[in-house]
Amino acid sequence: MKIGFIGLGNMGGPMAANLAKAGHDVAGFDLAAPMPEGVTRAGSAAEAASGTDVVITMLPNGAILRAVADQVIPAMKPGAVLCDCSTVDVDSARAVADQARAAGLDALDAPVSGGIGGAQAGTLTFMVGGSDDAFATVKPLFDIMGQKAVHCGASGAGQAAKICNNMILGVTMIATCEAFALADKLGLDRQKMFDVVSTSSGYSWSMNAYCPAPGVGPKSPADNGYKPGFAAELMLKDLRLSQQAAEAADADTPMGALAAALYARFVEHEDGKGQDFSAMLPRFEKRGKT
Ligand code: NAD
Repeated sequence: MKIGFIGLGNMGGPMAANLAKAGHDVAGFDLAAPMPEGVTRAGSAAEAASGTDVVITMLPNGAILRAVADQVIPAMKPGAVLCDCSTVDVDSARAVADQARAAGLDALDAPVSGGIGGAQAGTLTFMVGGSDDAFATVKPLFDIMGQKAVHCGASGAGQAAKICNNMILGVTMIATCEAFALADKLGLDRQKMFDVVSTSSGYSWSMNAYCPAPGVGPKSPADNGYKPGFAAELMLKDLRLSQQAAEAADADTPMGALAAALYARFVEHEDGKGQDFSAMLPRFEKRGKT
């Protein structure tokens, strides 16, 4: 397939490299990032999109996605698919999909889970919103970049799944960290805490797969000085998207709201910026009840 790839940062770079390695003809564009191996440099987003079957975007936020969509949609050939893999707000995902369809194209929102490791290894999970036809067209590419692609529904459904998943993740990570800090103060050994909770009803991905306590459970950013991994500021971005969506949809998400407020304090007023999102544990360790 002829593919345009726009946004070649930490995630997009290795995703585009995997497509090129699998034999696809990939033209890339990024304002700053280097070209991944096997990807041809285009002079602009429109040039990368021109004549392609699929354009994939992997960009920081919804405002940038809308600006890039304005550039690439007029350059794409009729019937081609614009597939956005960034994490953005549901409204931007739907607006860009509508704009693409009005121009005779098709569109998918296909945010990912799995982080930089998953992007490099080609083991991402894609959660996809859009038509059956567009999903079928892009599925072979999802299979190269990832291990699973779930077609969640119409445009916006992929972003909805992503922000709901990450709202659960933010809440469970905080709960796991505050429980470890409480256990410390109660004199409970951390390994014993892990052994019990990881096989009891308090278990979660945050505890079992990404344990925030160093030296306990599987290897995680906690064992690497809390270097991301998944940065606290990215978790804050996703929690804010969940709260924006909850506001628009009139959904009551009190735990999501608390998690967003706590990550905002951690990133913007404490020492959370640049740390992994599991560094909530040392944050709780340092603090008493106030
Ligand atoms: P990143 O900042 O490393 O990459 C974004 C890239 O977009 C940068 O290289 C930047 O130069 C480029 N860019 C910005 N504006 C542009 C424009 N107008 N035209 C062309 N290129 C432009 O970010 P990332 O970590 O690769 O994340 C990308 C997306 O994936 C985000 O939406 C993020 O929320 C999501 N995501 C990230 C992770 C993760 O662990 N990093 C995990 C899941 C999802």
